[in-house]
Amino acid sequence: MSFRYVCRCCGMRIAEFDQTDLSEVQLGLDSLTPEEREHIITRDAGGDTVIRITCDYCRDALDRHPELSLIGNPLQ
Ligand SMILES: [Zn+2]
Repeated sequence: MSFRYVCRCCGMRIAEFDQTDLSEVQLGLDSLTPEEREHIITRDAGGDTVIRITCDYCRDALDRHPELSLIGNPLQ
């Protein structure tokens, strides 16, 4: 069981932690609202926790082309 950070735009694996004793504060999840948690924190079939965030590349692209966020990801 591990924690995995994946980009929700391009699907790139950003980071992975094998420790299961990390607190939500260490993971940066303590400031999320319940609604955000439902969207951002998911579990895969293997029981790993998958945290869906935006990678630097996609964040940069969205900053320059905000309209892209309205289109969504055609791969999903
Ligand atoms: Zn990305």
